[in-house]
Amino acid sequence: MAPSARVRVQLPLPLPEPYDYRVPGDMALVPGSYVEVPLGPRRLFGVVWADGDGQGERVEERKLRPVMRAIDLPPMPEITRRFVEWVAAYTMSPVGAVLRMAVSVSAALEDPRALTAYTRSDAPVPDDLRLTPARKRILEILSDGPPRLAADVAAEAGCGTGVVRGLAEAGVLTTVPMLALPRFPRPDPDANPKTLSGAQRLAADDLSAKVSAGGYSATLLDGVTGSGKTEVYFEAVAAALRTGKQALVLLPEIALSAQWLDRFAQRFGVRPAEWHSEMAPPLRRHTWRAVAKGEARVVVGARSALFLPYPDLGLIVVDEEHEAAFKQEDGVIYHARDMAVARAHLGRFPIVLASATPSLETLVNAENGRYSRIDLPSRHGGASMPDVTLIDMRRKEQAPPARQWLSPVLREALSQTMLAGEQGMLFLNRRGYAPLTLCRGCGHRLQCPNCTAWLVEHRLTKRLQCHHCGYQAKSPDACPECEAEGSFVACGPGVERVAEEVAALFPDARIAMMTSDTLSGPQALRTVIEQVKEGAVDLLIGTQVMAKGHHFPMLTLVGVVDADLGLAGGDPRASERTFQLLHQVAGRAGREERPGRVMLQTYMPENPVMQALASHDRDSFLAVEADQRRQLEMPPFGRMAALIVSGEDEGAVDAIAAALGRAAPRDREDLTILGPAPAPLAILRGRYRRRLLIKGPKTLSLQPVLYDWLSRVEVPASIRVQVDIDPYSFL
Ligand code: ADP
Ligand code: ZN
Repeated sequence: MAPSARVRVQLPLPLPEPYDYRVPGDMALVPGSYVEVPLGPRRLFGVVWADGDGQGERVEERKLRPVMRAIDLPPMPEITRRFVEWVAAYTMSPVGAVLRMAVSVSAALEDPRALTAYTRSDAPVPDDLRLTPARKRILEILSDGPPRLAADVAAEAGCGTGVVRGLAEAGVLTTVPMLALPRFPRPDPDANPKTLSGAQRLAADDLSAKVSAGGYSATLLDGVTGSGKTEVYFEAVAAALRTGKQALVLLPEIALSAQWLDRFAQRFGVRPAEWHSEMAPPLRRHTWRAVAKGEARVVVGARSALFLPYPDLGLIVVDEEHEAAFKQEDGVIYHARDMAVARAHLGRFPIVLASATPSLETLVNAENGRYSRIDLPSRHGGASMPDVTLIDMRRKEQAPPARQWLSPVLREALSQTMLAGEQGMLFLNRRGYAPLTLCRGCGHRLQCPNCTAWLVEHRLTKRLQCHHCGYQAKSPDACPECEAEGSFVACGPGVERVAEEVAALFPDARIAMMTSDTLSGPQALRTVIEQVKEGAVDLLIGTQVMAKGHHFPMLTLVGVVDADLGLAGGDPRASERTFQLLHQVAGRAGREERPGRVMLQTYMPENPVMQALASHDRDSFLAVEADQRRQLEMPPFGRMAALIVSGEDEGAVDAIAAALGRAAPRDREDLTILGPAPAPLAILRGRYRRRLLIKGPKTLSLQPVLYDWLSRVEVPASIRVQVDIDPYSFL
C-alpha cells in the first residue's frame, strides 16, 4: 500500500498530539472522519486530524497499527476542529481533553441501538418485594401515562436506572421497544411571530440583517427584564432558519428552562433540540447525531452545546450572558460566553449576548466598540419597574423575633399582598435549613470531612450535606466532641427555615418551595410554575433557581431575606454578581399590570450595590465598579490567571506550590504574582489546595508566560496543577 496511507488521529484523551495509524487499503478517510482505533488493549473512538505526511515524529511504518473502522457519519467540520484547537490553546489544555467535550458521547459514534421503555406490567406487586421509597416513586410515575425510558423515570424518581431495571426483573415492570426518539422537525420561522413594539422591531431587524448577511459581529442586547429580549432574539433565530443556517442558544441552566422551551415551541411550532448534561444517554447520542447531520436546526443548550459538530452554524445567542454558570470550573476550565465569541469569530457569523445586567467584560467591549449594542429600555406592555425599598436590619424596629428572619415590615407586606389576592416571593440564596450546626454545650461545629466547609442541615431530607463535595450524613444524636445528647442548634437561616417561619406566620397560605433540592427535574419545575401561574400558590420561597426567567403575572412582592449574602469573601466580582442576582430576583415582581415592589433586608443599606438597586441606577454603579477595577488593573482592564495546585498529601502540595512561587516571573515589571496561598476552600474533596494568581496588562497574552513558568517546575503525577485563565471563582 502507498506509504502516505497513514493518518493522524486525535483521541478524546488528555493527549496534546494526535497518534499515527495506518489506513487499510479499502478505507476512505478524510480529515474529520470519525474512526475506531486501537490504543494498547483498548478500542477508542477518535477523529482523523490530518494526513500523516510530514507531521510529528514518524512512527516506523511496520509498527503502525491500523484504523479498525470508519464510522458512517459526516466528518467533524473543519471549523469544529479548529475551534477545539483554539480552545485548547487558550485554556492551556491538551487538544484531546477539549475534543472529549466535542465527542462527549463517544457512544454517539456507535450505531444507534433500539431503545427500551418501561411501563407497569399487569402483574401485582409480589409480597416479598420490598417497596423502598425509590421503587414506590417509580411505580407511581409509571402507573399511568406512556412507557418511558429508564433514565427519564430514574431522573424523576431521583434514583439510578438500576432500580428501574430491577423492578423489570422482578416482573413488576415490562419493557416495550421504543422508537419514538424526537425527530427534530424544522422549526418554522413564520409559525407564530409576535407583533413587536417599535424598539423591539428595530432591534430584531438589526440582528436579522446581521444574520442574513453573515460575517462576524458581536452584539450586546441590553434590556431590563421583561423588555422582550427573548422575543427579539427569536427573530434573529428566525433569520438564521430562513437563510438555512443552524442556530445555537446558550442558556445558563437549561435543565431549569421549561418556560423558555414552551415559548420557543409557541413561536416556532416545534421544540428545539435540547442539549445538557442531565439528558438520558440514548437521547444525547441521538441528538448529537442529529446536530452532526444538520437535522437539528436550532439547539438550545448549556455551555457544552458549544462543542457540538454543527455543519452550518450561523448564529449563537448567549442569554443571561453575565451568568457565572457559563464558566466551567473543572476539567477544561473555560468560559462558554468567551469561547462562544471565539466560535462565532472562527465561523464568521454573528453572536448576540443578551442580559438585563451585562457583565463588566461585555459592557467594556461595547463601550470600546468591539461589540455593538442594542438597548431595550422599557418593559413590554408598559409594565413599570418594581419599586425597591431597603429594610435597614440594624434598626431595632426592623429586628425579627429571636431565631426568626423576617422583619415586621416584610411580614406586613406579605400579609397585604396575600389579602389583595396577589402572590409573594421570598428569596434566600442558601439551600437547606441552616448553614451551620453547632453544639450548644461545647461549641463544636459540624464540618465536612473532605472540605474546608461546614455541613448544612437539610430537614426535608433529614440529613447534613456538604454543598461542595456532596458528602451526606445523618444528623448525629450526640456531639462527637463532648458527647452531649440533643445539644445541636441550627445557626442562621436557609430556605427551609424561612419556609418554616412563614408557615407559622401564615398558616392558611399555600406555600411552594423552589430549590434544587425540592425540584427533582424539569418536570417538577414545570409543575410548580404551572401552580404559581394558575394561582394555586400564595407564597413562593426559594433560591436562585427561582430567579431565572420565570414570568408570573400575579406576583407583586419580592422579599430578599439576606441581600448581603453574596458580598462577603474575596471575590473581586462580588459586588457585580450580587447586583446581577438581586436585580434578576427583583425583576420577578410586577411583570404585568399590577405594579410590583421589592424589599431587601440588609445590614449595609449604604453599600453601593443596595443603593444602585434602590435607585434603579445600574449604570452609575457599574461606572464606579469599572473605575475601581481599572485602577487595580483587574479584569476586564487587565488579564488574570490562576494556578491551582492540589493533591492528597499536604506537604507535597506545599512543596510544589512553593516551587512554583520561586519559579514565578517576578522580575517582570508588567506582571504581578500573588501567592502561593491556601485557597479559601483549602481542602476540597479530600485534596489540599493552594493557589497562585498572576495579573498582567490587557495587551499581554498570559499563555506564553504561563507555559514558560510551568516548564520550569517538575510536577509529580500525584499533584495536579490546574490553569484557570480569566478566573471567576476564587474558592
Ligand atoms: P426578557 O427576555 O427581556 O426578560 P421577554 O422576551 O421574556 O423579556 O418578554 C417578557 C414578557 O413579555 C414575555 O411574556 C413575552 O412573551 C412578552 N412580550 C414581550 N414582547 C412582546 C410582544 N412584542 N408582544 C407580545 N408579548 C410580548
Ligand atoms: Zn465536602
